Amino acid sequence: MSDLSHKWEELPSKYESLAGRAFTSTIVAEEVDPTCHPLREFNKFVVSPGLLAGTFAPSSGRLSVGGKSPLTGGIKEANAGGLTATKLAFINIRGIIIEGIPSAGTKDWYSILLRKDKCEIIKTNDYAGIGLYDLLTKIWKDYPSKPGIIGCGMAGQRLSKGAGVFGNNIENTDPGRYAGRGGLGAVLGSKRIVAIISDDTGGTRPEPKDKEKFDNGRKKLRDALNEHPVTGRLKDAEGNPFGGLKNFGTNILQNIINEAGALPTKGFKEGRFEHAAKISGEAVHELVDKTLENFGEKSEGIYGHPCHPGCVMACSNVVPYEKTGKAQVSPLEYESAWALGSNLGIGVLHDVAELNRLCNDLGLDTIETGNTLAMLMQGGLLKFGDGKGAIEALKQVYDENSALGRLVCSGALTAGQALGVTRIPVVKGQSFPAYDPRAISGIGVTYATSPMGGDHTAGYTIAAEILGIKGEREDPRKLEKSDLSRAFQATTAYIDSTGYCLFIAFCILDMDEGFGGMTDTVNGFLGKEIDVTEYGMNILKKEYDFNRRAGFTKKDDRLPEFFYKEPIPPHNVTFDVPNEELDKVFKDF
Ligand code: SF4
Repeated sequence: MSDLSHKWEELPSKYESLAGRAFTSTIVAEEVDPTCHPLREFNKFVVSPGLLAGTFAPSSGRLSVGGKSPLTGGIKEANAGGLTATKLAFINIRGIIIEGIPSAGTKDWYSILLRKDKCEIIKTNDYAGIGLYDLLTKIWKDYPSKPGIIGCGMAGQRLSKGAGVFGNNIENTDPGRYAGRGGLGAVLGSKRIVAIISDDTGGTRPEPKDKEKFDNGRKKLRDALNEHPVTGRLKDAEGNPFGGLKNFGTNILQNIINEAGALPTKGFKEGRFEHAAKISGEAVHELVDKTLENFGEKSEGIYGHPCHPGCVMACSNVVPYEKTGKAQVSPLEYESAWALGSNLGIGVLHDVAELNRLCNDLGLDTIETGNTLAMLMQGGLLKFGDGKGAIEALKQVYDENSALGRLVCSGALTAGQALGVTRIPVVKGQSFPAYDPRAISGIGVTYATSPMGGDHTAGYTIAAEILGIKGEREDPRKLEKSDLSRAFQATTAYIDSTGYCLFIAFCILDMDEGFGGMTDTVNGFLGKEIDVTEYGMNILKKEYDFNRRAGFTKKDDRLPEFFYKEPIPPHNVTFDVPNEELDKVFKDF
């Protein structure tokens, strides 16, 4: 971006098996100075479709973005669905590496247009400073081929740490697909890029090297996913709801985690929320059915909605307005419903959906923003439970000159410190997601030790501690969880590189055909055997090493003090995992 030029490079053979997170983290670890300022010229913004994106493997169209995070100061990968991974795979692009920033003082904004064998950096000042629903509609008007789009909204353009990287829905221009975490939207904003537009006209589907193995694998995995009660089809043979994700989305967890006493409520004060059911996946399912009944085909509410082409689990949704049946937001996922709902004491579904819609329009990560609003509540600027107040505070972000608006998108750590809050739920500067680590210890081990900072997707031990694997459940309060967290973190790093959605984990952990299907597709695509754990650990080692060179020490692998000292009701427990156990996770690095 320093001289607005581009060049193409053949994929070096040493990167042949690297895609998605493996690609972004390798490039960042090898090419970015870990001590650089994340929002100046020496940081890079890296994009990579997962290995199997664009193929017929089920639910394999995820896109990774990476860089040095302005939120954590460490390495960051975030991934999302949408159209872009598939489009890039069709035009044979393994990665995009954006370097430098335009000359100091420039007021211009740019977009990158990628087509088969073509790349243009175009001045698009009219794309900046507007809401993302308007921006994406404009881009699809400018490019009628309906390209994939990722980019940053107003928050990222102002270099705010709460800014995510948006993507568009597959069938429309809703900005609902977020690689939300770590403030990577601000890295894109620092490079004065609003959008990366990928058009696959004339492209071709990627071909596996060992087609027979790949095809056998994808069929095995598809069948296993369809049969599993979490990831399975919409209805059973009797016509009753079957697949949990397809019917209720990830927000099926709202009631489950509430029952477990681990739903962080009112800024991590309590583990149960009295209004959880009102903002749950079941409530969205009922609302969609009701609006379908009332408005028929005019209802825009949906459950069982795929976030990228070829997702068979389809956990996404469109929340309709009750009174009109028109779409309010897509999607409302568990993490957003929790961060902007229970976490703020807000139990009104349409208020939570409105907060989510505003985040999507402004280019904000819902988890970081929800935690930041909780800081405003603890700091006395808002009241817990005040949905309308939270909506008004979030709307301040539209006003570039509003100090409150700037604070709302600055991330929980910055906002909490500015307001004198002593209970800030972050590790390495990144806010916690929707599981209180005092009630479920393994996820606390992941929050503490992941190179990504407070992050549930980095090593989702909840699958073992709450949902169970092959009928067996790990005691959520057991303290020896270093092996469990390491195993999940390594497998996740592998999955994040394949393009598969992490939610295949429920099926691959329970069903041998599912796991075999996953590895057969990857190995069949590459034409060679890859060891899942070794591959994942290699990625984690590079990430861990980057953070160490950036100045992180063991002291950064700890939870904030109040989790060790303040018991959380209803179980009245603290986080008791000893530091030695935390340090065992990556003891070999
Ligand atoms: S399961 Fe959900 S999040 Fe995962 S790819 Fe499918 S729609 Fe997207």
